[in-house]
Amino acid sequence: MKIVFATHNQHKLEEVRAILQRELPAQANLDVCGLSEIGCTEEIPETGNTLTENALQKASYVYERYGCSCFADDTGLEIDALNGQPGVYSARYAGEPQNPEKNREKVLFNMRNTENRNACFRTVIAFIHEGKTHYFDGRVDGEITSEEAGKQGFGYDPIFKPKGYNETFAQLPSEVKNAISHRALAMQKFIDFLKELL
Ligand code: IMP
Repeated sequence: MKIVFATHNQHKLEEVRAILQRELPAQANLDVCGLSEIGCTEEIPETGNTLTENALQKASYVYERYGCSCFADDTGLEIDALNGQPGVYSARYAGEPQNPEKNREKVLFNMRNTENRNACFRTVIAFIHEGKTHYFDGRVDGEITSEEAGKQGFGYDPIFKPKGYNETFAQLPSEVKNAISHRALAMQKFIDFLKELL
């Protein structure tokens, strides 16, 4: 079965492929394509006010125009001391065009005098298959560090230290991040669903 992951982000596509390869039996025969592989080069609108609305918007866009089973995820970093910001605006926290470095700088600046460093990443996945939409979610709690550390991963990884670890997501080996992350937990629920389907 072929399913499309509605993302232009190569890092995310690779992370998700690695998780699926590890978790699904080889005979499941699942082919996961990115948007470029189906010829979708345009930016898909993300105008929802929640992670769920955005995930649905992206998956529907592909399902309606390209007619293939499709899943999309939307993730937000929610910081307690910033009232849940950047949340659904995580990608563009420091404005347009998207700039992960500036986003991290803005978080560190806004938290420069803040003792409460608690934060979480949340992911919602929407999967549209044969006209029905299914949702899966995942969450990882942790802390915002006071400075950047690590070179791996992407986005806010260098400033997010998951609970129970002394290193940021950008310092931890990718296998560790892929086992405990918000996206991995949402993916695990999605995979359990796919196992039943395939
Ligand atoms: P998206 O919905 O997955 O595109 O995520 C929105 C924004 O959240 C991205 O632009 C990143 O800045 C951030 N983000 C999403 N997933 C991660 C992650 O695993 N690590 C760090 N930042 C992430």
